[in-house]
Amino acid sequence: DLPLWQVDPEIAAVLDGEADRQRGTLEMIASENFAPRAVLEAQGSVLTNKYAEGYPGKRYYGGCEQVDVAEELARSRAKQLFGAEHANVQPHSGASANAAVMQKLLEPGDTILGLDLAHGGHLTHGMRLNFSGRLYDVATYGVSEQTYRIDMDAVRDTALERRPKMIIAGWSAYPRHLDFAAFRAIADEVGAYLLVDMAHFAGLVAAGLHPSPVPHAHVVTTTTHKTLTGPRAGIILSTADLAKKVDSGVFPGQQGGPLMHVIAAKAVAFKIAMTPQFREKQERTLRGAALLAERLLAADAKATGVDVVTGGTDVHLVLADLRASELDGKQAEDRLHEAGITANRNAVPFDPRPPMVTSGVRLGTPALATRGFGDEQFREVADVVAGAFDPTSDVRALRERVDVLTRDFPLYPSVQPYANA
Ligand code: PLP
Repeated sequence: DLPLWQVDPEIAAVLDGEADRQRGTLEMIASENFAPRAVLEAQGSVLTNKYAEGYPGKRYYGGCEQVDVAEELARSRAKQLFGAEHANVQPHSGASANAAVMQKLLEPGDTILGLDLAHGGHLTHGMRLNFSGRLYDVATYGVSEQTYRIDMDAVRDTALERRPKMIIAGWSAYPRHLDFAAFRAIADEVGAYLLVDMAHFAGLVAAGLHPSPVPHAHVVTTTTHKTLTGPRAGIILSTADLAKKVDSGVFPGQQGGPLMHVIAAKAVAFKIAMTPQFREKQERTLRGAALLAERLLAADAKATGVDVVTGGTDVHLVLADLRASELDGKQAEDRLHEAGITANRNAVPFDPRPPMVTSGVRLGTPALATRGFGDEQFREVADVVAGAFDPTSDVRALRERVDVLTRDFPLYPSVQPYANA
């Protein structure tokens, strides 16, 4: 029963190195967050040992009395948190949640209608190389070239023309609210299921700071590790009449044994998401994104060719548009990295540059809000980002400002190094 540092010092060094990296940089990848210590504890636990195929009370394995309690807590908390009639908490990831739903509600060859990947959609919404693009006939909708917002009239026109069996609403890089009621009206008109993938904004929905898709959609999927701040995984919410289909879509349709340690960690995350502290954090998340958008729209940033897609944000991310900048997305990402800020380059709609380069950067505030940042820190971060997007600025000076912020807001103070254990 040896500790990690004795069994495998190389991996112990990776864990320590990653903790140092997270502590010493500013995390602005919009899909990332810092899971609380309680979530890490549940996830790194003896529950990892347990096989529990099936559902609570109906397992194909013995010895499930404890894990049944964990899964029942996760299910009931997910339902309560989002006001859903049914919850399945077993999907290993957001992608497997979507796969389970599509596999059960569609036949191969059926048409699906989702947001174009190049306009902010996700791989699992019909990308050519993904299972969704290979199994189904894919129709897409995009954003308007005038407003850069999703044009619901265009969605309707495409739906009437292509007659999808499923319409997918949800995104990985779109800075505005979706009109869930309008999506549902179109789905009803063409006899399609409406699947909302709220992976990115689920934490905002949980906090009551973003319109909820749950009253409108047949099925809602989400990851649990983005704004929701839980373990890396997925869940599915649905109406009661689809409960059986959803459950059999996950198991045995898509997965074998559920990851009970991760399910326990989801239960913990849902409990935390019901607290006033969680809501307050999500308010800071939104405020930080709004301050960042405002800073990137200021005259000096405009002068360096920076713009913001849709001229602002309703959510936890800002899509910086660098089409008029000397810097492409890759160069801007690299300059942010040198300044100590981690973010990802991202295509903007109608991007003239190839996907490996792009003309945009996606910047999210969830992890910094978890770290404790408020208005003052977000203003400073926004100024550093604007500085990094100016090709004439001194990146080392920006790095020093980042160092002050990371020192003032320590991360995981109770997580001990492994190597010296
Ligand atoms: N759906 C959306 C909208 C996402 O943004 C993502 C992740 O980026 C996923 C699904 C997939 O989640 P996972 O990486 O857990 O498979």
